[in-house]
Amino acid sequence: MSKLIKSVRGMYDITPDEVWIWQRLEKLVTDTLNAYGYQQVRFPIVEQTALFHAAIGEATDVVEKEMYTFENRKGESFSLRPEGTASVVRLVLENALIRNQIQKLWYNGPMFRYEKPQQGRKRQFDQIGAEVFGLSGPDVDAELLLLTHRLWQLLGIEDVRLELNSLGTSECRQRYRSVLIEYLNTYQDQLDDEAKKRLHSNPLRILDSKNPDLKEIIANAPVMTDHLSAEAQDHFAELCQILDHCGLPYQINRRLVRGLDYYTHNVFEWITDSLGAQGTICAGGRYDKLVEMQGGKSTPATGFAMGVDRLVVMIKNKNHWQVPARGDVYVVIDPCWSVAEATALVEKLRDALPNLSVLLNLGGGSFKSQFKKADKSGAKFAIILGQDEKDQGLVSMRSLTDREAAQQQLTVADAVELLQQHNI
Ligand code: ATP
Ligand code: MG
Repeated sequence: MSKLIKSVRGMYDITPDEVWIWQRLEKLVTDTLNAYGYQQVRFPIVEQTALFHAAIGEATDVVEKEMYTFENRKGESFSLRPEGTASVVRLVLENALIRNQIQKLWYNGPMFRYEKPQQGRKRQFDQIGAEVFGLSGPDVDAELLLLTHRLWQLLGIEDVRLELNSLGTSECRQRYRSVLIEYLNTYQDQLDDEAKKRLHSNPLRILDSKNPDLKEIIANAPVMTDHLSAEAQDHFAELCQILDHCGLPYQINRRLVRGLDYYTHNVFEWITDSLGAQGTICAGGRYDKLVEMQGGKSTPATGFAMGVDRLVVMIKNKNHWQVPARGDVYVVIDPCWSVAEATALVEKLRDALPNLSVLLNLGGGSFKSQFKKADKSGAKFAIILGQDEKDQGLVSMRSLTDREAAQQQLTVADAVELLQQHNI
């Protein structure tokens, strides 16, 4: 026998016993985003590598060591998308969607990063993200936060908190950068290799380091908040004021910096303590400079991305969603019915009941074994096609949830009406 070929490390299957959670989550998120007036965009999984170098920044984990990069037959460099924002910016520029227009967009799908696989950290993972272009005020940032908060409520996720910070304008960042380099310079000998390398290229990223040895140095570092311009302070204060007014609680975390280079002004993370070390379920912020960095006209933008895999783990752990029934109606058939006759009748039922799931027993079997399968399917009703029914041109119907209820013999039309009345 030949050897079984397994899936790639860090990339996982989703089997039917779990896929319904993904589907339900995606539907809730889609409906909510639509309700807030966001429109979906879809873009390729493969992009030119240069896109991510330009958008995400050279001195970042993602670009330095996490990208799946390969050459095509012509020697051009392509990468599997590690995130969505760079592609959405490319998409709006390439399709001229932000020429004097506001856009509220969202996307979902798999992202790829070559990371150390562990709980909550995969090499292929799913993100759902939203991006807004053309609006610079904090009202949009507030809307994104209220929208995500509504989602947690709809998903039944409670143990999650919102952390906020402001990174100011790019001018504030420049000023803060020099203060930070000066501070970190005094700890030169204690920095790890990565931090040393980033000291001058991207010192803010050092604050996002996961190395526990740097924890204290990072904790005592000067904070961005003390170096914000009056304009940046106002922007942040207004966001906080809207959230206060809407009753959305948050914590200001002056040490919150995002791993990616393009953020300005408000940044945020939704964090849970229930997932261990990988506790950020949604992260985002304003990125007013990115469109320009990617070759477009200066356009304010803001957005977020949530980690769907982590949300699914939370829902699974909480175990508060009921497994959906596979069918509504299960059709049990006696061998006196030819398969062709039974199939034709079930197709008629499906025509008449387009909103119901009508399962036809496949593969034969005794009535007893067919009813067992009917119960397992979770269907509420069985339609029985027996000898009597065949002779009289009728069908029988029986409740599968109420054992006391009598079995009824009906015409197909009456059965359809009854099922419609039951509104299952
Ligand atoms: P981290 O600091 O945990 O590496 P990040 O800053 O790289 O996160 P983002 O690029 O902001 O993450 O991605 C947004 C969200 O996508 C994260 O908050 C997380 O929920 C999810 N995510 C990111 N990387 C992974 C991964 N490798 N596996 C599963 N989910 C992920
Ligand atoms: Mg990461």
